[in-house]
Amino acid sequence: MKVPFLDLAAQHAPLRNELDQAIARVVDCGAFAGGPFVTEFESDFAGYCETDHAIGVGNGTDALWLALLACGVGPGDEVITVPSTFMATAEAITYSGAKPVFVDVDERTCTMDPAALPHALSRRTKAIIPVHLFGQPADMDPILEFARTHGLAVIEDAAQAHGARYKGRRAGSLGDVGCFSFYPGKNLGALGEAGAVVTNRADIDEKIRVLRDHGQTRKYHHTMVGWNCRMDGIQGAVLRVKLRRLEAGNQLRRQHAARYTSVLRKLDEVTCPYQAPYAEHVYHIYAIRVHDRDRVLHQLEQQGISCGIHYPVPVHLQEAYADLGYTRGAFRNAEAAAAEFISLPMFPELSADQIGFVTQTLEQTTRPLSLA
Ligand SMILES: *Cc1c(COP(=O)(O)O)cnc(C)c1O
Repeated sequence: MKVPFLDLAAQHAPLRNELDQAIARVVDCGAFAGGPFVTEFESDFAGYCETDHAIGVGNGTDALWLALLACGVGPGDEVITVPSTFMATAEAITYSGAKPVFVDVDERTCTMDPAALPHALSRRTKAIIPVHLFGQPADMDPILEFARTHGLAVIEDAAQAHGARYKGRRAGSLGDVGCFSFYPGKNLGALGEAGAVVTNRADIDEKIRVLRDHGQTRKYHHTMVGWNCRMDGIQGAVLRVKLRRLEAGNQLRRQHAARYTSVLRKLDEVTCPYQAPYAEHVYHIYAIRVHDRDRVLHQLEQQGISCGIHYPVPVHLQEAYADLGYTRGAFRNAEAAAAEFISLPMFPELSADQIGFVTQTLEQTTRPLSLA
């Protein structure tokens, strides 16, 4: 049986007519760059995230970068984040002119360990970016409290956590700013590149709207130096259609996760994802941990099961950041996770048979050698 890691064709097939019509409306109006379709989506997405404002941008990396600029982060500043994330989190810090400073993650959730923050604090620290890895919010209350005490901005990297909740509140709505990616494979994905920033702060909303459009407040009148980070009209229209299915999709992901875990938790060699009591996880990624990863991955691939590794190299050990001076051993939990993670197939349209085949293959693969 073939089990893909992700199946976007299956996701789009039942929406095809609606998507075609949404795209046709944009083509008919010619509202391709920003414009009314983006504004409509912004209003819907702010409602969904339970925030006052949402600003559509070009992608999730833009969202993080503009959020940093809007919080006043720049050259000479430091921003604290985690090494267990996609490169973009740190790249955005670098592109703001600031320096990324890493702290280790919690052993079980692999999100920012709030107890590690004091060690990373300096006079230059300006902001913190917790990452809601794989669809589970970081433990935000102690992070927000630390930030308040030290006068730091909190920017949530919610690029994997559309719709997730922390103590009942939406991911992205907890800090000063929340950043989302609508890369096609995310829980809410565009038909191309897109992203958004959400916030309850009117000053940040206003600043990002100006920054994303060349710093202009009126056409050809530029109050600051910005950049072109607008969202496509077509993506706005398409995302509005797909947003209406996000809750149902997340619900299915949670069901699939529960089905995986009900079998895999019985296997000695497999550590299942941990859902913290404060979290409603949306399982952008369902990542198990195994010690003998190469062998397990090979067996899964041989059976036609496509998996991923998110991420094989923690950001502090990436070659691109060699000049930051971190060495192996700096962040034990992040490094152990990077060596053990396997992301199993996870998407709303996954069938019970496919899940059964994956768990069965893992049962056979990880059976103690004496019984093999
Ligand atoms: C996808 C992702 C991003 C970047 O989003 P793009 O839309 O690809 O620019 C940033 N952070 C995390 C954690 C992500 O998963």
